[in-house]
Amino acid sequence: MQCALCQNTKKLCKSHIIPEFFYKELYDKKHRFKGVYSIWGKIVFHFKGFRERLLCEDCEKKLSSYEKYLRDVLLEQYPKIMELKVGDKLYFNVNYKKIRLCYLSILWRMSIATKRFFKNFSIPEYEGKLKDLLNRDDPGNPNEFGYIAIVPLMNNSFKRAWFIDPHLGKMNGDDICFVMFGGILYIFFITFTNNPRAAEAFIQRENKWLITAVDVKDTLLDKYIRNAQKIIKKSQ
Ligand SMILES: [Zn+2]
Repeated sequence: MQCALCQNTKKLCKSHIIPEFFYKELYDKKHRFKGVYSIWGKIVFHFKGFRERLLCEDCEKKLSSYEKYLRDVLLEQYPKIMELKVGDKLYFNVNYKKIRLCYLSILWRMSIATKRFFKNFSIPEYEGKLKDLLNRDDPGNPNEFGYIAIVPLMNNSFKRAWFIDPHLGKMNGDDICFVMFGGILYIFFITFTNNPRAAEAFIQRENKWLITAVDVKDTLLDKYIRNAQKIIKKSQ
């Protein structure tokens, strides 16, 4: 079968769409990850992650090395992320190339994925560009598929088990993708015209990453999260 990334015909691995550590290692016993809280779909318990046959072993290894880097960064920062209160900003140093390539690969994988969780998101006209960057190990410019990371807090508490399936939306005329995993909401700018406020929060070549904590009411997710709460309540 043909590898979705390098296009070579090889045996394909069952690849994760969202890196596995988001389901496993970011939880302790008390906060065990129980399922996917998808706002539009139903809740799936005993969840094992989303995997599809996409990549050959070489491409899988390449993306795994970026994932390992992101995992190490997040495991180190998580204790601080969990302590954030509304209005706090957390800055930390990251490797621009590795972190960008990891998130670009997640964006690309979410677009080509066919599982139900990803059915509301697809950007076929940008898949070629993303694939090209990944094949060349080129992280691109900060504004190219730039993304903002936000921690939405509910009554100042961090919802690390929350997953929200990726959706397309609009922000100041730009096409965006919003998705939440591991308690962090990501807003990817699929197109980018002129949005200096957003650009400030993109990872820059100086390797600074900013995570901002906001009240969930101040995010575009508020109404969706209310719906999720109803679904969760009903299922309990
Ligand atoms: Zn490949």
